[in-house]
Amino acid sequence: MPQEQTLSLIKPSSVTANQIGGIINKFEEGGLKVVAAKMVRLTENQAKDFYGVHQGKPFFGELISFMTKGPILAQVLEGENAIQKNREIMGATNPAEAAPGTIRAEFAHSMTENAVHGSDAPETAEKEIAFFFDKKDIYGTI
Ligand code: UDP
Ligand code: MG
Repeated sequence: MPQEQTLSLIKPSSVTANQIGGIINKFEEGGLKVVAAKMVRLTENQAKDFYGVHQGKPFFGELISFMTKGPILAQVLEGENAIQKNREIMGATNPAEAAPGTIRAEFAHSMTENAVHGSDAPETAEKEIAFFFDKKDIYGTI
């Protein structure tokens, strides 16, 4: 399996609820390494741009309002098969369907406030990492 990098966001509700440490612990226990991190508060335009693929869907307005209501923690995670592994550690989008032990099973507050974002494919990972980080600020091995 190849070494990969993926983008992770800890969403506003989990930053506010003091759950950053618990969530990062899940990544580290799962074999992923944090190789870049910063706290940012997205503007409405930035959130709409980041989640552009969901524009027009019924939950879009609620998602943008939620993602801009406080700071998020953006991270680059690195490891073997990191993109898929991160999705497994996160659990299903709907926390009611998330497997026991996953981040969303333990930390999500609702379908929208579901604790974390993770890239879903190599192309989106590259694009989403570049959205938040300059290459020089990523301390990975690839
Ligand atoms: N979302 C929502 N309602 C839905 C589907 C998605 O509020 O019915 C939100 C939720 O925060 C989710 C995000 O929109 O994480 C992006 O949706 P996606 O289908 O890409 O899920 P993810 O990749 O985050 O698991
Ligand atoms: Mg998605």
